[in-house]
Amino acid sequence: MTATTSLEEIARRDLADLNSHIVGPDDPGYDAARAVHNGMIDRRPALLVRCSSAEDVARCIAFARAHEAPIAVRGGGHNGGGLGVVDDGIVIDLAGMAEVAVDPDSDSVRVGGGATWADVDRATAEYGRATPSGIISTTGVGGLTLGGGLGHLTRRFGLTIDSLLGADVVLADGSLVHASATEHPELFWALRGGGGNFGVVTSFEFQTHPIGTAVMAGPTFWPIEQMPEVMRFYREFLPAAPRAVNGFLAAMTVPPVDLFPEELHLRKVCAVMWCVVGSEEEATRLLAPVHDVGTPLLHGVGPMPHPGLQSLFDGLYTKGLQCYWRADFVNELSDELIEHHHEWAQKLPSMHSTMHLYPIDGAAHDVDATDTAFNYRDAQWAEVIFGVDPDPANADAIRDWCVGYWDATHPYSAGGAYVNFMMDEGQERVRATYRGNYDRLARVKAQYDPENFFRVNQNIQPAAGA
Ligand SMILES: Cc1cc2nc3c(=O)[nH]c(=O)nc-3n(C[C@H](O)[C@H](O)[C@H](O)COP(=O)(O)OP(=O)(O)OC[C@H]3O[C@@H](n4cnc5c(N)ncnc54)[C@H](O)[C@@H]3O)c2cc1C
Repeated sequence: MTATTSLEEIARRDLADLNSHIVGPDDPGYDAARAVHNGMIDRRPALLVRCSSAEDVARCIAFARAHEAPIAVRGGGHNGGGLGVVDDGIVIDLAGMAEVAVDPDSDSVRVGGGATWADVDRATAEYGRATPSGIISTTGVGGLTLGGGLGHLTRRFGLTIDSLLGADVVLADGSLVHASATEHPELFWALRGGGGNFGVVTSFEFQTHPIGTAVMAGPTFWPIEQMPEVMRFYREFLPAAPRAVNGFLAAMTVPPVDLFPEELHLRKVCAVMWCVVGSEEEATRLLAPVHDVGTPLLHGVGPMPHPGLQSLFDGLYTKGLQCYWRADFVNELSDELIEHHHEWAQKLPSMHSTMHLYPIDGAAHDVDATDTAFNYRDAQWAEVIFGVDPDPANADAIRDWCVGYWDATHPYSAGGAYVNFMMDEGQERVRATYRGNYDRLARVKAQYDPENFFRVNQNIQPAAGA
């Protein structure tokens, strides 16, 4: 590259047949193309390439290596730290690789590396089945899966990675391999929780699970003043409940939408968002104790098709909001910790800001800490503190609340945090998250990506001398 020839120009020459898929700084669509979900992230790549095949991906990798350009791999672009975009480098955008093919004979589904969960949920629901994912359907399958995957079906069917059967991966040397329990098993182990460190996954194959035509889902709201009582109930009730019951706890503000009674609009509440895989009768019976806790403002659990549940909050957490994240794994909700939650929940700085506690138990505990790269199998909850607001002028306020809340609660945590709920928090935090699995991940990294080419992620550094 000379001073007068930009990386984009060279790409347009060397990758001429991908020309119509390249977006550069002078293109009218550049700002839309570089934008990720988190509006706080404002990075300017040299170019973005919209790939539509593993071959396109391999060619972008070869091109980037030849020009020593950093790359970011973008699945759904939801990552809080903005890992789907990089300054002055190349974004490999997989959004065009969103094909989904259900195989009803093997109860599995094959999914392109750039699909969103909405694509998957719609297709599997046709067969009364689902693969566990998160709680927002616009999230990318790629990033969510490679980090672990926590959501409404965790207690019943495990983490998303527990349903992963195999993956097609373009490696740093441009070769395409299939990783599964029998092919490249170490790579397959590392992909299940190790993030985007090992290559570009162009296709995932998942097991699907029976959920019928609808799950029983919806929230219970309590006044925020009753949060301590609700949390003390929740810490006992949920771990002892049958796996059919999932419920993540939230401190939140009721959005002013028709779904909720007007008198609750903009009221701060403590909530549990339930999802029961079972009949209406079962859900009513299993959730009966909930009505005896405090004075619920609303108990809105009813039948809901799984894709409907998955997209329930999509309209609330839209692309472009300012988002600041902090997270922890938590084993115990002590009375003291609950008091800190109560204090900070009352200070929610905006309507969108929230704190969630996602259960990690039931089927997620069937898998051992060393069976996949996701180490914190013994944790009981994944906590995320999520400062969110549409207005950039409030960025400092949501960040300060988020950090203040985390500072108060972190001393009670189990140590690391779920990688998909982290921003850029440094190497020590990444190590704390993988604990005893870090060294093995570093060896797999040294084997499959010895030069740390894939480094725009929660980075695992190649083991020295491996
Ligand atoms: C509103 C909101 C709600 C969320 N809710 C949940 C939830 O309920 N449960 C949960 O588990 N997580 C949740 N998340 C977190 C989410 O899992 C992470 O943000 C995840 O990184 C998003 O994946 P993505 O593909 O959309 O992101 P991207 O920003 O595109 O990518 C994130 C990382 O994954 C890598 N990557 C993505 N796709 C591939 C691929 N095909 N091959 C290789 N590397 C790839 C990227 O390089 C990058 O390092 C939520 C996020 C948001 C914004």
